[in-house]
Amino acid sequence: MKKLSGIPASSGIAIGKAFLYLEDDFPEIPRYAIEETQIGAEWGRLLEAVAGAAEEIRALHERASRDMTKEQADIFEAHLLMLEDPEFQNQIKQELESTLLNIEWVVWDISRRQVQKLAASADAYLRERAADISDVSRRVMNKLLSITRFSLADLSEDVILVAHDLLPSDVLAMNKDRVKGIAMDVGSRTSHTAILARAFAIPAVLGLSSVSSEINDGEILVVNGDSGRVTLGPDKKSLQQYGKAIVQYRKTYDKLLAMRKLPAETLDGHQVSLKANIEIPEEAEQVMRYGAEGIGLYRSEFLFLTPGQSAEEEEQYQAYSRVIRAMKGLPVTIRTVDVGGDKVLPNLQNANEKNPLLGWRAVRFCLAMPELFKTQLRAILRASVAGPVKIMFPMISGVEELEQSLVLLEEAKAECRSRGQAYSDAIEVGTMIEIPSAAMTADILAARSRFFSIGTNDLVQYTLAADRGNEKVGYLAQPFHPAVLRLLKQIIGAAHKEGIKAAMCGELAGDPSATALLLGMGLDEFSMTASSIPVVKQIIRGAALESCRSLTEAALGCISFKQISDLAASWMAEYFPSG
Ligand code: PEP
Ligand code: MG
Repeated sequence: MKKLSGIPASSGIAIGKAFLYLEDDFPEIPRYAIEETQIGAEWGRLLEAVAGAAEEIRALHERASRDMTKEQADIFEAHLLMLEDPEFQNQIKQELESTLLNIEWVVWDISRRQVQKLAASADAYLRERAADISDVSRRVMNKLLSITRFSLADLSEDVILVAHDLLPSDVLAMNKDRVKGIAMDVGSRTSHTAILARAFAIPAVLGLSSVSSEINDGEILVVNGDSGRVTLGPDKKSLQQYGKAIVQYRKTYDKLLAMRKLPAETLDGHQVSLKANIEIPEEAEQVMRYGAEGIGLYRSEFLFLTPGQSAEEEEQYQAYSRVIRAMKGLPVTIRTVDVGGDKVLPNLQNANEKNPLLGWRAVRFCLAMPELFKTQLRAILRASVAGPVKIMFPMISGVEELEQSLVLLEEAKAECRSRGQAYSDAIEVGTMIEIPSAAMTADILAARSRFFSIGTNDLVQYTLAADRGNEKVGYLAQPFHPAVLRLLKQIIGAAHKEGIKAAMCGELAGDPSATALLLGMGLDEFSMTASSIPVVKQIIRGAALESCRSLTEAALGCISFKQISDLAASWMAEYFPSG
């Protein structure tokens, strides 16, 4: 029995036989010289292969448009655009003419170079795009080499799909009734595979480094999409335990979903609000079935990062309006663009910084690009007539940045007025607290904000000086560190003193082991991945505020994160003995 640890990408537990789906083992790619007179024929072969591949993608797109969400269908549209991109085809033609090598080799060589370049990028988003290029070029190569790839649509028995990497089209095309879980060497929560696994409710753990080389085809494994653990060759005892856990998980989850209309209220009548975090507009249509009382964080920068999508004012306005309408009168908090750091905009010059996480990010970037910032603000303002909207600014480090952002918001309002564009007067404007300097000056910021939203992902990163994307220092990035707890107490206290609400939209808000502590601190709003809402609500509904306050008080007296997590775990064991 061996345990591997990866990124929990889609919730749930699955036990099953591994179906090892390795990259296409292309036969050795033929490489031979051609005569100049053969260029035309080779080019003709390419066009034929591209037409065949396009036909396949169109069929997949048609199926996806019929059976899946727009987001899923869009993946194929993006693939089609890539395939038929004249620049891509020109590059192949030029290489064919200059190298005088056969077309298979030319296509393979160009795509390999592009994939390597993207895969080595520091930007997770660009790394994910490497998967799309592989997907498209493989399809063309299959045509050129007359390879028929095993289709995951043909899976006829229940399996756990194990791969080094899965192409988005594999996930879309696979027989979803047969794939009970997914384990992959690479990938992150923002990869297409993760998005799709969540959309299809298939438990998934990604970023496992070596799972595809450590397991044999047909071997049993367990995928735990909540803890990020994968157990290879589990012994009889753990199989039984996991089997029970699955039955329990399903029962509990169904029961929890049935609570979606009940308030998030403690046994002694203290009510808080549970909201959802979303990255793309399509997600808004799903969150209400988990009982979300609104969107607490819409990471609007994803609009700017989607390939083939422009983020002009009109597109932004449409996207924001779509989210607001989907929420049917429930509030939507739009976080203004947070690019930079690990989210580099390919066409703007915020790449190549030595310390991107300490660099030109989020509101710093927006303040330096006032037209881009005001375009977004106008789009949000205009969308606000469709329903209640809040705006929040990310990475505020002090009062100057907040005040400058508020000035630009007023300018954006004036521009809307002069254009005769309506907007709501009731928009609340808040501040994200995710930098220690903002936490330390929370009293000053609270006086100028209508609400706070605590971004614990960054707050932990900057407080502990531990890069949130670097697994080597992951052990340091502990939200239960006494320093973080003290900051949280200070932030929430400052908000309440000013009479404003304290929300949290970092991952900690959806972590059930932190729920009681956060309740005890007085957090008013928890915003998280929608599927975590039912579990957090269950804890809130089963807890008394008084006992949470005692827990928080005791935690604030602890000297290490270990002590605090042990304390939180024993509180859970006492009040929720069945887990
Ligand atoms: C955070 O930092 O906690 C947060 C919610 O923002 P993001 O994860 O997008 O940086
Ligand atoms: Mg953040």
